[in-house]
Amino acid sequence: MRKPFIAGNWKMHKTRSEAKELAGELVKQLKGVDQRVMIAPPFTALAEVGSVLADSSIVLGAQNMAVAEEGAHTGEVSPAMLKDCGVSIVILGHSERRHVYGETDELIHQKLLLALKHELEVILCLGETLDEREAGRAEEVVRRQLKSGLDDVDTDGLRRVTIAYEPVWAIGTGKTASPEDADQIHRMIRQEIARLYGDKAAENMLIQYGGSVKPNNIADLMAKENIDGALVGGASLKTETFVPIVNFNK
Ligand code: PEP
Repeated sequence: MRKPFIAGNWKMHKTRSEAKELAGELVKQLKGVDQRVMIAPPFTALAEVGSVLADSSIVLGAQNMAVAEEGAHTGEVSPAMLKDCGVSIVILGHSERRHVYGETDELIHQKLLLALKHELEVILCLGETLDEREAGRAEEVVRRQLKSGLDDVDTDGLRRVTIAYEPVWAIGTGKTASPEDADQIHRMIRQEIARLYGDKAAENMLIQYGGSVKPNNIADLMAKENIDGALVGGASLKTETFVPIVNFNK
């Protein structure tokens, strides 16, 4: 039985005081929820939000991580620095990192190995662009990103990975993949995990959907067999929208 996992990606929003206020409200309003919940504030607010979450069940995530442990990497943040702020999960391969900042499959793969080495969990984001979908290449692209991201990861490491399927054309656009289309890709991902790691690993694999998830579409998405949670951008910035998404089954 896979426990639903809802994650909020705050992207480049919220000053430290705004982040602290939102995190505090979420701790109050989500007390006792069954779902696993993560929030990923910007780097500048990690330590502050980490202290707010300390005695709660909400886990602290980071939106990115350096591919190196330390050294001359201007502007980067290392795995140890993230852990020092209380981070336990890092989002890697988000489409904005891939398509706006040019992160390659290989770079994301190296980051994933480094995160696992430092005992961080990873949310590995995969997803096709609109052109790739229209050319009938969605499955091929997602399969390539998955295989490359997980290269050299053993079954033990895999236990600390969550996959997020986020079609690029659905992120921040208000367009959501239909639950059926999303589930088809999620099923393909699970089959690929079964092929690479066996049925048990595939059964346990958490696969989130991301792309304009809102309070009014979460229940239909979560009703699908292979959708185990959501990675939420815009709607994670307010309690009025994030709390009902977490409570999709109430
Ligand atoms: C995201 O940033 O991962 C995302 C899915 O954004 P949004 O929910 O705003 O589409």
